[in-house]
Amino acid sequence: MIFVDSHCHLMFSRFRNVCRGIGNDPKYSVDAIIKRALDADVKYMLAIGTELTDIEELRAVTTEYHGVFRTVGVHPLEALAHYERYSDGEISGIIENSCADVKTIGIGEIGFDYHYEKGSQKQQDKLFNLQLDLAKKHNLPVVIHSREASEDIVDVLKNYAGVTGVIHCFSGEKYFAKRCLDLGFYLSISGIITYKNSIELQDTLRYIPLDRLLIETDSPFLAPAPVRGKLNEPAFVIHIADKISQLLQISLEEVASSSFKNFLNLFSKAKDFLDSISCFSG
Ligand SMILES: [Zn+2]
Repeated sequence: MIFVDSHCHLMFSRFRNVCRGIGNDPKYSVDAIIKRALDADVKYMLAIGTELTDIEELRAVTTEYHGVFRTVGVHPLEALAHYERYSDGEISGIIENSCADVKTIGIGEIGFDYHYEKGSQKQQDKLFNLQLDLAKKHNLPVVIHSREASEDIVDVLKNYAGVTGVIHCFSGEKYFAKRCLDLGFYLSISGIITYKNSIELQDTLRYIPLDRLLIETDSPFLAPAPVRGKLNEPAFVIHIADKISQLLQISLEEVASSSFKNFLNLFSKAKDFLDSISCFSG
């Protein structure tokens, strides 16, 4: 069985809020995290960019591991900080520089976050549109972050016909799911599905067509129920797949194979890359 973690963050030291205390613990080095994932049959990972300063580090990781891909983009919670430092032109230039790389398979994560930062709505909006323009120009799918902003997300995405992508860490209700599916988007399910109080999401899951479903850890955040309290990592994506297989009453193999297939359908550059290397067996 082959699993893909379609949304993870691998450089834990960048997330001091949840990774406080790991210091230089070799257990949480990027190499150790990737090795545990590969050992757990999580052969492919999409390492998500959140700011312009992580681009070089991500490039190095994706060059070293053929199964690790990356996105490039600025997270909405980084909007204020980036506009203090960069102009629109500079942000575009840096992102575009990275787009040509074979391992850069999407733009993200981008979107709106009104939970932590309602005050930067104007900058978030400018940044979101700028990055959607780049996605359109370079024909790359987008990875969407939406927190307490579903209406506004749909309103913006409606203006970008032809741009597809995934709503990451989908935790919304059926109505939002429907509108995203109508726009051609995939929905990605995280460890939230394993939590006792996620009744609404579990109900929505049954509504999402299997060929539009992705799975992700969003590591180091949101560790799934069986390992809750630990730092999350790509190796744990199996717990999420397992829960989905129980809820949908399908085999774990089916969850693994359909989410892998969907991943390659959406991120066509990943498919092109894997087709181009001999160790890929289908
Ligand atoms: Zn993320």
